[in-house]
Amino acid sequence: MSNWESLINLNRSDLEQMTDMEKFEEMIKRLDNLNVNGFVFDVKSEKGVLYSTKIGFTVDKTDIIEKLIEYSREFGYDSYLWLVALKEYTLNTEYREDFINFISNFQLSKLGYSDKNYWQIDKNGKIIDEQFICPTHEGYKQYLLEVVKEIVKLPIKGIIISDYWFDSEACFCERCRQLIKRKIGVDLNKPITTKDFYLWINWKTEVISDFFKKCRDNIPRNLRLIGEIIDIDPAYGYVVGYKINTGLDISLSKYCDEVIFHIAPISGVDDESLKVITDIARYLIGSLDKEIILFFELSEKKIINTAEKMAEKCEVSRILYYLPSIEEFKKL
Ligand SMILES: [Zn+2]
Repeated sequence: MSNWESLINLNRSDLEQMTDMEKFEEMIKRLDNLNVNGFVFDVKSEKGVLYSTKIGFTVDKTDIIEKLIEYSREFGYDSYLWLVALKEYTLNTEYREDFINFISNFQLSKLGYSDKNYWQIDKNGKIIDEQFICPTHEGYKQYLLEVVKEIVKLPIKGIIISDYWFDSEACFCERCRQLIKRKIGVDLNKPITTKDFYLWINWKTEVISDFFKKCRDNIPRNLRLIGEIIDIDPAYGYVVGYKINTGLDISLSKYCDEVIFHIAPISGVDDESLKVITDIARYLIGSLDKEIILFFELSEKKIINTAEKMAEKCEVSRILYYLPSIEEFKKL
């Protein structure tokens, strides 16, 4: 008998079609063997936010999330919302101009910010590949907090926050350069000493912590704040998303009710690597006085077996699965 429960994060490209009750029900039947306890819906998609909003950017007026929460309730499942904080899918699409105009001319000015330097910039002065907003953009941070205040009014069990981090090694935008100079006396235009490097890492952690703290302050106590702050990936030296590059730190867990360990793609990973991943997870879990959720991308069926074994070994009772698109999932 299994002693864990699963949360299912649907592929965000499928959310709109899942507002067809029959499709939702069909999908639930396919998840029969996973001990599903709740669903996790992405707040953002290429179209902007997916709920009826007064503040969030949206191309179509939409209440996709409200419908999905209602269906989940009818079938007896909890709902959680996932805010991929600094990443804007909209930027990679035809909506890019609309989005920028919306943010710069409407939303941020409404919030009292006129600074248009949104992007995280690499050390060569280029916008980093995945187009993340810079974590020190106060206007965008304020915007996200307003979105948080709106979504916590929906009948949900909790929210997951991810992707509030320095995506590359750091942001080298002019605002970050000036802040770093003013706050910790480090000049990024000069060679970085080891001491500077240490101060810089801690500054990044402070910037990221501030956002998590403000989220906690804006979320009612009866809702769970779940942080995706640990990423264990053999392809990147085992633990990424952990302090040095991103500003994420295990200390962020103090603002969270639960912490997600993202176990990076494990299809094709050998037993020895799986053992190392499991050992790292156990070590970190042992150091945290928090509930833990292990997060897997469900790209093939055998991952379920691996995930359940790992959960058992780690004494974790919750597993979160990210589903491929429903069409792909049907083939599993
Ligand atoms: Zn910056």
